[in-house]
Amino acid sequence: MSLRPSILDPLFAPANTLPGVGPKIAPLLDRLLGEAGKPTRVADLLFHLPSSGISREMKGSVADAPVGEPVTLSVSVVLHRPPPPGRRAPYRILVEDETGDVTLIFFNGQKARLEKILPVGERRYVSGKIELWDGRRQMIHPDRILDDRGIENLPAVEAVYGLTEGLSSRMVGRYIGAALDKVPHLPEWQDAAWMDRNALPDFRQALFALHRPDNAAQLSEDALAKSPPRRRLAYDELLASQLALALVRSRMRRLPGRVNAGDGRLVERLRSALPFGLTGSQERAVEDIRHDLVSDKKMLRLLQGDVGSGKTVVGLLTMASAIEAGRQAAMMAPTEILARQHYERLAPMAEQAGLTIALLTGREKGVARRTILAGLADGSIQIAVGTHALFQEGVAFQDLGVAVVDEQHRFGVHQRLALGSKGEAVDILVMTATPIPRTLALTYFGDMDVSVLSEKPAGRKPIATKLIAIERLDEVIGGIGRAITNGDQVYWVCPLVGESESIDLAAAEERFEMLKGFFGDQVGLVHGKMAGKDKDAAMERFSGGQTKILVSTTVIEVGVDVPNATIMVIEHAERFGLAQLHQLRGRIGRGSKSSTCLLVYKGPLGQVAQARLEMMRQTEDGFRIAEEDLRLRGEGEVLGTRQSGTPGFKLARLEVDGDLLGAARDDARLIVDRDPDLISERGQALRVLLYLFERDSAIRLLRAG
Ligand code: ADP
Ligand code: MG
Repeated sequence: MSLRPSILDPLFAPANTLPGVGPKIAPLLDRLLGEAGKPTRVADLLFHLPSSGISREMKGSVADAPVGEPVTLSVSVVLHRPPPPGRRAPYRILVEDETGDVTLIFFNGQKARLEKILPVGERRYVSGKIELWDGRRQMIHPDRILDDRGIENLPAVEAVYGLTEGLSSRMVGRYIGAALDKVPHLPEWQDAAWMDRNALPDFRQALFALHRPDNAAQLSEDALAKSPPRRRLAYDELLASQLALALVRSRMRRLPGRVNAGDGRLVERLRSALPFGLTGSQERAVEDIRHDLVSDKKMLRLLQGDVGSGKTVVGLLTMASAIEAGRQAAMMAPTEILARQHYERLAPMAEQAGLTIALLTGREKGVARRTILAGLADGSIQIAVGTHALFQEGVAFQDLGVAVVDEQHRFGVHQRLALGSKGEAVDILVMTATPIPRTLALTYFGDMDVSVLSEKPAGRKPIATKLIAIERLDEVIGGIGRAITNGDQVYWVCPLVGESESIDLAAAEERFEMLKGFFGDQVGLVHGKMAGKDKDAAMERFSGGQTKILVSTTVIEVGVDVPNATIMVIEHAERFGLAQLHQLRGRIGRGSKSSTCLLVYKGPLGQVAQARLEMMRQTEDGFRIAEEDLRLRGEGEVLGTRQSGTPGFKLARLEVDGDLLGAARDDARLIVDRDPDLISERGQALRVLLYLFERDSAIRLLRAG
């Protein structure tokens, strides 16, 4: 059942309802525009903005037509010159005006067809690029050949679209044209005064302006970045996302929280059992959190800290506080490996403090699972560590006070809501290691308060990062041999196994075999396709020190902590994102020994790839790296959302629209303050906006649904 306003139906109709889009074309559009598994809809076509424009304006004569640029000329057809029989030569047609002639060239031209569209002696309009060949003008395969009637319907400017195999820009343009015919007049959700001040068109006008521009210059890259119609649409999208967050936030705050802190004795006991003192920023975070917990408002706080900054301890103390108040606590991790590792690290501390703790992932089954579920339901288990399995249906807590979510950027608003539903007033602490640029933090966590761990625990040594060409792999192996004799441990990361056989990647399995040839049983392997218990066993052998070299795919990316590992080799480093490299590198440099990261690349490197790896070599500052990554690659990939399927932005581009984000956030908060249930006229229009950009899960929170 969808509550989507029916006024949006034409935009959500599948693209194959458009004239001209049949069963052959629809899959091509899916490939171009569809999100995995979802058929392309009319709106997807409309949001596929042109990348440039071609002027089809008729001006000037053959003689002064510029070479190499698209021109449209009015000419008369002089002569057809088909290729001599049996020769593989092009079909040539000579056309002219008063000032000169041009030869039109057709490869595989069919005589009958060409004679029909370019009859000798007639006037025609041809559009395409003039080239010089042997001093003579020619035009290879004109884009357009039109008669007097045709030219009247030719727009002066044609939008050019990004393509996929089998679809020409012209075809895409035609389907988008059909989609434009379907755009309804929607109620205005933007503030009228603001629109006036910025001279912005309405939603429908904006789409028309972009797809049917008046002149080609409007679609140049620079012009598009600043173009009012595009900015209008970008703002719509940003406002939709900020509004969804603001609604979640206001709902969370409207719900009464509970006091989730006791006399502090348990927290104190745990603290004093730690083998180290907290850093200044850990202290501040603990303080912020305590403040939230003792208040009767709900906590919704983001704990942001670079890899290795010590977030887990803060999470533990947060959970201890809830238990002190007589409640339960849960910690959720994005992967099984991580959940298990958290569990193994927390269990001894918890047990020492007299607390009961259990692990629940998708793998706990049968009796074991039922026992855990019973313990959660009757309150005999105080701390639950697990994956998202913790928050699925069928899991009930007796009285959940606090939920700590590790590596939040993989979860979306939906999961945040699911989490809150497990207890009447669960305080939520979200921990993320991704150093998110400020702009992005706002788009994903605009609804949260933030604490930042800005320093690393004392005694950490800087990591030396080196770039090494794959040809020097033998030196790398030699160096590793010496290191493991010294008692060091090594991570060896390979790009994903089995993503595509056609790509020339050194698969982890192959590398594992090869290293085993040198180092025998000291080499272990872990990858995403392994069965869960084999993964655990491999990780355990590595953290226990039995294996010295752990060959892996990126499954170790997040969170794994083995302080004795001091070397990280990353193969095909040029294929990873910067943020991902930073995460991986953060696995080392955790102990007191100095560490080395070897970025092994396959040359030759392009300029951008070179610059990116160089960046890794120069800095360990996650924020700098993240900003750079954002600049180089766009936001979806920085957060890894492409993989996790959170919809990113279709229209807004944070590199150029970042300035709109703060405005959208403020606007959204103002709206929610004034009209928390979106019932005013503008509120109703804003509901349409939320559905339009599929941020409508927040609408379920509204009272007047
Ligand atoms: P992350 O923020 O990446 O999750 P962890 O919580 O895994 O970091 O902490 C990394 C390592 O640093 C762990 O071994 C942890 O025990 C240790 N650690 C955390 N806080 C401190 C501290 N204040 N002083 C020294 N070591 C610390
Ligand atoms: Mg962690």
